[in-house]
Amino acid sequence: MKRLQRKKPWYKNTAGICSIAAVVIALGVVLFFVLRGSGEKEPEVPDMPPVEEPTPEPEPAPNPPEEPEQTIFSQGEVTDGVWNLILVNPWNPMPENYSVELEEISGGGVDKRCYPQLQKMMDDCRAQGYSPYICSSFRTWDLQQRLFNNQIQEFIDQGYDEEEARALAAREVAVPGTSEHQLGLAVDIIDTSNWNLDESQENVPAQQWLMANSWRYGFILRYPVGSTSVTGIIYEPWHYRYVGCQAAKEIYQRGITLEEYLGRTEH
Ligand SMILES: [Zn+2]
Repeated sequence: MKRLQRKKPWYKNTAGICSIAAVVIALGVVLFFVLRGSGEKEPEVPDMPPVEEPTPEPEPAPNPPEEPEQTIFSQGEVTDGVWNLILVNPWNPMPENYSVELEEISGGGVDKRCYPQLQKMMDDCRAQGYSPYICSSFRTWDLQQRLFNNQIQEFIDQGYDEEEARALAAREVAVPGTSEHQLGLAVDIIDTSNWNLDESQENVPAQQWLMANSWRYGFILRYPVGSTSVTGIIYEPWHYRYVGCQAAKEIYQRGITLEEYLGRTEH
């Protein structure tokens, strides 16, 4: 008997299900792209090769802290010009007809241009409880001559002949025309506990403070120990010379003389 072949309903037909599913998926895909296309397009971001972050420059090492500015008293100092660096020593006499405008101080005077610094240095030294005293400042040619002659006489009295006495005197009292005191830029400062102008000055408190701090005000200890062959003058732990703050700082820190600072050690 012929089996009656009954047609299966669609849902029992695998091929039918598959084709319907395929149509639904296809519709879904089409719908997705249609809807997506109608929406706001996101800005296209081109595929870029990954950009390497630039390596940050290494932070420059912080400079060693500068001396705070207020530790240097440079009021009134416009620049370190020529006038404050003028070299006067046994081989470099002062310029002829050198004239200086003086500010009067007790017992003498100094070049007006370095007066504020000198005054401040003295004030600050006293504020530390010390007793500095300016025993010599500006000298006229005549005064320098008298001091020089007196020194010669002192050596003659000790038994030296005149030529020897003159040579010895020149190491202690500048020959007229070669003294910084004639410039008005030098002062001799003593501690009132010791009035002797000799090496014992280096031990008195005011002097020690000045030696350590005068550079802050533009002054240098002009004839330091062991420098006679360069300066031509004996060690004088009392003679301060104004050179300006910039030069004074360098001269102090390098432990040199004005001659060396200026590169003029030739005799
Ligand atoms: Zn002096």
